[in-house]
Amino acid sequence: MSTKQATKAAAAEDLNPFHIAQQQFDHAARYIPDLKAGLIEFLKRPDRMITVEFPIETAEGLVKNYVGYRCVHNRVRGPGKGGIRYHPDVTADEVRALASWMTWKCAVLDVPFGGAKGGIVCNPKQRTKDDLRKITRRFIAELGDAIGPYTDIPAPDVNTNAETMAWIYDTYDMMHKGRNNLGVVTGKPVNMGGSLGRNEATSRGCLFCTQQALARGIVDGLNSVKGATVVVQGYGNAGAIAAQLYAEQGAKIIAVSDSRGGIHNPAGLDPLDVLKHKKETGSVVGYPGTKEVSNEALLEIPCDILVPAALENVIRGDNADRIRAKVIAEAANGPTTPAADKILFAKGIHVLPDILANAGGVTVSYFEWVQNNENEQWEEDEVNSKMKAKMIKSTNAVIDKQKEINDSLAALEAARKSRGLDGDPLQPVDLRTAAYVLAISRVAEVTLERGIWP
Ligand code: NAD
Repeated sequence: MSTKQATKAAAAEDLNPFHIAQQQFDHAARYIPDLKAGLIEFLKRPDRMITVEFPIETAEGLVKNYVGYRCVHNRVRGPGKGGIRYHPDVTADEVRALASWMTWKCAVLDVPFGGAKGGIVCNPKQRTKDDLRKITRRFIAELGDAIGPYTDIPAPDVNTNAETMAWIYDTYDMMHKGRNNLGVVTGKPVNMGGSLGRNEATSRGCLFCTQQALARGIVDGLNSVKGATVVVQGYGNAGAIAAQLYAEQGAKIIAVSDSRGGIHNPAGLDPLDVLKHKKETGSVVGYPGTKEVSNEALLEIPCDILVPAALENVIRGDNADRIRAKVIAEAANGPTTPAADKILFAKGIHVLPDILANAGGVTVSYFEWVQNNENEQWEEDEVNSKMKAKMIKSTNAVIDKQKEINDSLAALEAARKSRGLDGDPLQPVDLRTAAYVLAISRVAEVTLERGIWP
């Protein structure tokens, strides 16, 4: 695709995250010919969306009002599970998309949860810690019994962390005294029911997924992260820890970024020292011995592994053509749009999709929940090795599913025709579509096994 064509495609691209999630679903559903039309509609839509509006009294003595959302997309395989995001750009459709991706992620990993997500429209950088505690407590109080250890279980996401989870637990526990409420939220501080290894789990799972996919030979000539060059976009929980873990395995981190911009040094960066600089100055930008790059340019730096670990829609129809990585490991949710997926697939760039690559976080959240329910604390090695086993199994399952689909396109096409389904001829699928097919099939199967109530 020429730059002119790509720009034209991007102009027409719908960047609404929920529309994107639905497009991804529809595309994958074409490869499951026996999926009933009504079931498709049910699986695409969220079960429930709650909007709450509430005030807090801020540190400067103002009354400020906030909008918060909590969406449960699907609870067929278990309670809703998903993080809570604090960001000025949070929208209802972003929360719906993130909730649906959680459904598919939990199904790919075979974790017994459904999908959920929450968000508050706010700029945490402009609020004091005390304000953020009030915002969190009021939001959780407004949600009331909509969350619970066996119904819907929040976790950290962008701009929320273990401390936020402690406030969520405390608020819920105040409202439900006299019972073990630890399982109402995961990603808690370790000294109050958090799991060892949870803080690093998203990044560690992303590393395990990348290592396994490379060991399976998805990229010619790149069988390991050792010696690979890596670019990381976003330097928070997912990104900064990913940079450290990939570097520990012998990869060379050549560029990283945060919301203020990026830094590049082809000779390699010391991720821990960059984190120290970010803690001292507020950004990775200005780290000594590096060249400053824009976030847009950072994505286009030639490298072996690109790890988007910030927000949605950063790899789109208008820049996918300029990506020069060999493989993209999606630590972030929704970083690649459907138009970009097509371009990357045509260029032979493999994308380890979010619903697989960043699932280490929810997997260890599940382990935390199990530990909470049993009043146990597992050793960190046990947590990591259990998570590794799940990441390897799921990565293999997705790669195998891709081969299975691509080897049976003619049979799938015939099955579609026999059911009177039309549309464009089926094309070979990428790893995202394979992961969706695996996940949708698993959720659909349980839906029918349970029987549609009543
Ligand atoms: P975080 O708040 O800890 O970090 C986000 C980082 O992204 C920050 O460094 C911020 O400066 C940076 N950023 C924001 N806008 C940017 C931009 N336009 N360009 C470059 N960098 C930008 O959040 P997090 O928990 O690391 O989440 C990051 C991504 O990982 C999100 O997509 C999230 O949904 C996903 N994720 C997180 C978890 C988890 O357990 N925290 C689990 C699975 C997926």
